[in-house]
Amino acid sequence: MTDDLSSGNPRGLHFITELANIVRDDPQASAADLQALLERHGGPPFRLTDVDARELHQATSHLIRVLAIRDEDTAAEAINALLDRYPARPRLVRLPGRPWSLHTQAPPDADLTHWLLSTSALALALWLSERGSCAWGQCSAPGCDHFFIDAGRRTPQRFCTPRCATRVRVAAHRAQRADG
Ligand SMILES: [Zn+2]
Repeated sequence: MTDDLSSGNPRGLHFITELANIVRDDPQASAADLQALLERHGGPPFRLTDVDARELHQATSHLIRVLAIRDEDTAAEAINALLDRYPARPRLVRLPGRPWSLHTQAPPDADLTHWLLSTSALALALWLSERGSCAWGQCSAPGCDHFFIDAGRRTPQRFCTPRCATRVRVAAHRAQRADG
């Protein structure tokens, strides 16, 4: 995870939903599975042990609870509780050739839980304050309840991916043809 928290750039948020989906789909997801996810999102550069993997599973359960909340007041309270418990140290960082952007820096002695929850809580807090609502959700396709980040501006997103949306549209179309 790059820890880039710039508003309008929900990359860190996609890391959070992907992590939540992996951990919920497979409570036994291994250190290698989680490592692959971290690497896809750019960090952190160290080998996860089985103990780390268990720690990440545990920490992710806090994020799953937040992502399942639909009411913005309740979500804000839950996120504030995480920010109290796992304070983030936000900093503006300028990467070569890029504009200034907001990142978090974990304290030197931070463990994985602290790193994950401080960064994620701040990312979710910025997202909620920017959108004014819980701009995330769970897929409504049958057999899928994956979390997603709702980055759309007009109609609320219903499906986790275009793939699930297509699956539901095709099924509806077939049902209609069977009826007619
Ligand atoms: Zn889905």
